[in-house]
Amino acid sequence: MASHKKLLFLMALLIMVFIVIQFIPTKQTIDISEGNGKKIVITTTIFPVYDIAKQIAGDKASVKMILPPGVEVHSYDPSPKEVISFKKSKIFFYTSPYMETWVSKITPEISKNTVIINGSEGVEFINGDTHGHEGAGHIGLDPHIWLDPANMKIMADNFTEELIKIDQANSDYYSIRLEEYKKKLDELDREIQLSMNKFKVKTIIYGGHYAFGYFSKKYGLNHISPYKNFSPNSEPTPNDIKEMIEITKSSKAKYIFYEEMLSPKIAEIIANECKVSLLMLNGAHNVSKDDLKSGITYIDIMKKNLENLKKGLDLVE
Ligand SMILES: [Zn+2]
Repeated sequence: MASHKKLLFLMALLIMVFIVIQFIPTKQTIDISEGNGKKIVITTTIFPVYDIAKQIAGDKASVKMILPPGVEVHSYDPSPKEVISFKKSKIFFYTSPYMETWVSKITPEISKNTVIINGSEGVEFINGDTHGHEGAGHIGLDPHIWLDPANMKIMADNFTEELIKIDQANSDYYSIRLEEYKKKLDELDREIQLSMNKFKVKTIIYGGHYAFGYFSKKYGLNHISPYKNFSPNSEPTPNDIKEMIEITKSSKAKYIFYEEMLSPKIAEIIANECKVSLLMLNGAHNVSKDDLKSGITYIDIMKKNLENLKKGLDLVE
């Protein structure tokens, strides 16, 4: 009799354990994927496209940036392990084939499950080889398209068009956010334009790599940099630096600009030699860990740039 009771007790225990197991969330139930109120996983490459995806997709998506915070973007190349992780996202969003030159290499592998969005579709590129244009003397096409707010609008349009195809149920939500974002970009553009008319100095003397070609073209400025390339990978020669020192001295500039993320050693050499001060002009390629955490936006960065330009280009009030 005792053993019969023991058996019943054991069976009851087993049933209880079975019931409890049913209610423990498995890894699958907390996994995020598209549809049914779950979030769409979006992989972005560098900061400008990360910002666009966050602003447009809002709380409907989980947006990741593959570049770790603080890392220089021009020399980035994804590892095979990273490429595998890209395949888990519904959307892969990058700026252009001239910035993320490695995308064509990974396209066959990820395009089966993932929609690849080239943000630059419809953007007019500046050719560095074209004489008489901004960027002349540099090799190939300038990849820094995002530094003209009008190009950010094109990139946001391209992204939203594909996002709506994937998640039509939320098309109104995305369309409204796109319009709001473009309105903010227009306001930024107007604010920069207003200041530009009041600048005494019309040349950005940049100790970093040539990144502000689109910005300068848009706002009628000159942009000079000792780097002969559109990336900071090939450092300037002593002759390039000497030339910059001469230009800076003859310009009577009080400030020169340095770039984000990288050590400003070239800008410091020029500043020391010409006895001028340094100001940051942020190319918004990537952001620091703290800035990423605080939710800094492209517009925040550009507004800070405008404050430094007002100082460095001698704004007349
Ligand atoms: Zn760059």
